[in-house]
Amino acid sequence: MAVTPRSGPSGSSSTPPAAGARVEYRLARNAVVRAVRGGRVGVVDVCDAHPELLRAARNIGTPSGEDCPICEEAATVQVTYVFGSGLPPGGRCPATKTELNRLRRREEPVLCYDVEVCPACAWHHLTRKYPAGGATASARRLRPGG
Ligand SMILES: [Zn+2]
Repeated sequence: MAVTPRSGPSGSSSTPPAAGARVEYRLARNAVVRAVRGGRVGVVDVCDAHPELLRAARNIGTPSGEDCPICEEAATVQVTYVFGSGLPPGGRCPATKTELNRLRRREEPVLCYDVEVCPACAWHHLTRKYPAGGATASARRLRPGG
């Protein structure tokens, strides 16, 4: 049974991503992995993590607990990039959990990007995107039984 993927914006009105929306890229990531295993995409095309990303992965990456889907020789780690006003255009890559938490709790809203990286073969793929900081729902949660 064929499933027709609706890729790209279809229709006339392009809706901007809603604030507060969390986007998972697991399916897209799995599709890439399948394409590589099927020989439709070259390993060199997906294992081309930027040296800075690799360095971040080695130094501050948090273990994902999963083996690399490409080389299957090393465990992948997760690196988080934070985008927002006052941060570098290429995103801020917090060096410590403390810094990451501080960025997430900023008064100004930020966008966080979790990236899966294999330090061994340089495989990398976006895992999820989620907003933080600012007046997020969690920050405004009413105190129960106040
Ligand atoms: Zn790998």
